[in-house]
Amino acid sequence: MVDQIPVTRSSMPPFEEYCEEIKELWRTHWLTNMGAKHEEFRAALEGYLECPRAVLCANGHLALENILAAMRFPAGSEVLTTPFTFASTTHAIVRNGLVPVFCDIREDNYTLDPGCLEKALTARTVAVLPVHVYGNPCDTDAIGSFARRHGLKVVYDAAHAFGARYRGKSPARFGDAAMFSFHATKVFHTIEGGVACTADGCLADALSDLKNFGIHGEESVTAVGGNAKMNEFQAAMGICNLRHLDGEIAKRKTVFERYMERLDGIPGLRPCPPEKDVASNYAYFPLLFDGVRATRDGAASALAACGIHPRKYFHPLTSDYECYRDLPTAGGGKTPVAARVARNILTLPLYPDLPLADVDRICDIILSGIA
Ligand SMILES: *Cc1c(COP(=O)(O)O)cnc(C)c1O
Repeated sequence: MVDQIPVTRSSMPPFEEYCEEIKELWRTHWLTNMGAKHEEFRAALEGYLECPRAVLCANGHLALENILAAMRFPAGSEVLTTPFTFASTTHAIVRNGLVPVFCDIREDNYTLDPGCLEKALTARTVAVLPVHVYGNPCDTDAIGSFARRHGLKVVYDAAHAFGARYRGKSPARFGDAAMFSFHATKVFHTIEGGVACTADGCLADALSDLKNFGIHGEESVTAVGGNAKMNEFQAAMGICNLRHLDGEIAKRKTVFERYMERLDGIPGLRPCPPEKDVASNYAYFPLLFDGVRATRDGAASALAACGIHPRKYFHPLTSDYECYRDLPTAGGGKTPVAARVARNILTLPLYPDLPLADVDRICDIILSGIA
């Protein structure tokens, strides 16, 4: 059986380094509930992400869900968002009793198209929830000024964007709040984990309560919170992985650039290189097929036959999920660009230790489908 190549593979710190990091826990027996590792990691992240307040969570999804909950929008309020994303983004809206209104995406970097927001606006609109998809930054200026004009909150799903910089700034610095995911499959991870970032101290305080059952003080429970706390083992993994992040991103860049050398400029294929003003984290290598010279599904099957497993991120659109397609605000051909991209995009294997020989083999298979 030939070796399988997955779409991604989790980065791991050296085993001894992690053991050293958790050793102290056998002395303190303090395993969760904002212990020493949690506090050390939180401070490190506030520095790295350039954000005044970072609220660590059990995972990225609950961080996002709690950000919307903490904003206390009336039930049935509408949130302008993208359907070209992972399930979590849309679920976070709906699980808060809010209504997702799907807007189209840009052709060039697949993020929410600010030009589509105006016509989706209603008297019930309260917020915009864009996604820095693949780590590509949204048009934060246009989205920000639209939101200010209409008195809306902006919450960024920055799950893909950890380690990236836009105009020299951390993605945490855009919008009223931003969520990063530290899931094992992301560029940087804490096994499971995530963080809600904000400069708004009141929002951060509310988030800190919400992730811990709404407990505000020893005898004071002020909100209907769940349990979304990050534990000490997760925080220790984060502390270790943060030390190696730059090296991991540099290795990803080498892989990314090899894909670019082989696939850029080939008629029928469109990669998505970092734009100017963007220091990429090289999280993903999305490749768009034109469907004429080559089809996405053809390439995916040819690769799968060789034990190579790219992913059709993001297909289907969340607005086409069984649980959403009957919403009045879903589907109906309202997002033609997103629909076309979802049909034709393939995310190729990309992780720090992916051998360049494997990258070449992947490119050979794709290119042989085009000749
Ligand atoms: C991974 C991801 C999430 C959710 O993060 P978890 O940490 O897995 O809960 C949310 N949005 C997007 C776009 C993601 O890729």
